[in-house]
Amino acid sequence: MTSPHPMGPGTRSVWGGERHPMTDRATQVPVVHSVSFGYDDLDEWLRVARGEQDGHIYGRNTNPTVDAFERKVAELEGAEAVTSAATGMAVISATLFALLRPRMRVVSVKDTYGGTSRIFTEFLPAYEIEVVLCDTTDHDAIEAEIAAGCDLLYLETPTNPTLKLQDLVRLSTAGHAAGAVVVVDNTFATPINQNPLEQGADLVLHSATKFLGGHADALGGVVVGREDLIERIFAYREINGATLHPEAAYLLLRGMKTLHLRVERQQESALRLATYLAEHPKVSVVNYPGLSSHPQHELARKQMRGFGGMFSFGLRGGLEAVGRFLPQLTFAHGAANLGAVETIVGPPATTSHVELTAEQREALGIPEGLVRYSTGIEDVEDLLADLERGLSAV
Ligand SMILES: *Cc1c(COP(=O)(O)O)cnc(C)c1O
Repeated sequence: MTSPHPMGPGTRSVWGGERHPMTDRATQVPVVHSVSFGYDDLDEWLRVARGEQDGHIYGRNTNPTVDAFERKVAELEGAEAVTSAATGMAVISATLFALLRPRMRVVSVKDTYGGTSRIFTEFLPAYEIEVVLCDTTDHDAIEAEIAAGCDLLYLETPTNPTLKLQDLVRLSTAGHAAGAVVVVDNTFATPINQNPLEQGADLVLHSATKFLGGHADALGGVVVGREDLIERIFAYREINGATLHPEAAYLLLRGMKTLHLRVERQQESALRLATYLAEHPKVSVVNYPGLSSHPQHELARKQMRGFGGMFSFGLRGGLEAVGRFLPQLTFAHGAANLGAVETIVGPPATTSHVELTAEQREALGIPEGLVRYSTGIEDVEDLLADLERGLSAV
């Protein structure tokens, strides 16, 4: 959709990326299952194949439904280019493997998503790529490592599950001074709350599985940003083959139409719940950037428009207390997902950081009694009642 004036994020969620009229005057994006696209005219076929004319050749490379999903994300992030992949991890892998070469140096932080962290510690070193993981909030240390040599700076803010932040403007500036490509995982913030491209990042990626789709029924990943970089990622991904399925693209696209409404509701409720928990004697810690007690609350106010639906809290009594607490919740799935319309809870020990040992988790500030809470769109009174019941069982 082109508009005579800049669209707000709500309008972009609904109309972004959609080209009207569509096939047979459908008002909704069709799910095109066709693997290939047929041409009678060889010259036209060649023009499309060479990228001189818009069109599709083969479903592993591009597809009209996938295109519409990608354009919607690009409009929400204010990006010039976009590509997607089958999952968030597929897009993260494609980004790293497309842009890195032996003897390059990556600077990142210790608290990245568990899968990302494994690429850094297990897979990249095998290709002689050096990866330095800094303390997630120690900006002086991150800047020092960047200055020591950095080809790719990889940030994730806020982090999973402890909601730590990195200063995007400050670190992007440092990254560019060292000649690095700056990549940001924006999954937790969503484009409603944070647009890292405006704050200096070159590439922004999402696990679309989470808030973008929002209904826990489709996997997907998407990366937006500088056109020259996106072209390289696309070239890798179309050969690597982890293509986003058109059916998943449609579900993600449909979910995104309510992204702004869901995020607004989730963060309004999350603030109420986090405030309640922060005052509870059985709770040792609450990690939520929207609380004034959060150590980086001022940074959150500076670089985010809202604080999101994710928080985590520690129960006094460790994993045993978590075991008593969880069964008391009526309106929450105990599951390894987040960002959906339903509330989802889980200890990081079984979800995001299941790959790590208890000692490694402790070192990251993830005590065994920590509960990650993804606020859904239910009535907040029902969620509060659930928490009260859960805490009285601890
Ligand atoms: C879930 C998640 C990923 C990985 O996405 P998948 O779609 O599960 O592959 C990456 N980063 C963050 C922050 C996530 O929460």
